[in-house]
Amino acid sequence: MRVVFLGAPGAGKGTQAERIVNERKIPQLSTGDMLRGAVTAGTPVGLQAKAVMESGGLVSDDIVVAIISDRIEEADCQNGFILDGFPRTVAQAEALDGLLKEKNLKLDAVIELVVDEGALISRIEKRVQETIAAGKPVRKDDDPEAFKQRLVVYREQTAPLSGFYAKSDRLKTVDGMMSINEVAQAIDALLDAV
Ligand code: AMP
Repeated sequence: MRVVFLGAPGAGKGTQAERIVNERKIPQLSTGDMLRGAVTAGTPVGLQAKAVMESGGLVSDDIVVAIISDRIEEADCQNGFILDGFPRTVAQAEALDGLLKEKNLKLDAVIELVVDEGALISRIEKRVQETIAAGKPVRKDDDPEAFKQRLVVYREQTAPLSGFYAKSDRLKTVDGMMSINEVAQAIDALLDAV
């Protein structure tokens, strides 16, 4: 099963994706995690991506498309995957369609977690508090200024993806303001119907 999760930063994509990994035994492909890994490892991609990520901007389409293209070739993706944080621009969505077509694969579900923007700011503040309480380092792009910039970028570049997938009748939406369990149930119902 190949699934795309759409939604603003802080909408709960990562939380829901992690749960599905355990239940459906398919990997979560988070371009954000992969890029943070590249930054930590100091690879050429990481060096290129670091500043733009910290400021809340988007890494270039070419870089992330290449990362995903390689990653979905790996053995653990044979039975499918969950894309979390990719695509983030219409160009990336078109590239993904092209990549899958080349490999004779299709997307089974595109699910958008719809959330209220005001609530996102408090959710992210909570995430920062929990991270600090757990003694872990806080993501630089979770600071209030960078987070606001991520929301601006989301509105301008990523939100149009809803229209892109709706046009081809592939978009399903879930109310991301419900509890984590209720969101999980709604997602499961959509995935079970695939
Ligand atoms: P995330 O963990 O998904 O919130 O991603 C963190 C940061 O990584 C984003 O703010 C971007 O700078 C970068 N990033 C992650 N995925 C993408 C993508 N698909 N396209 C461009 N930049 C991305």
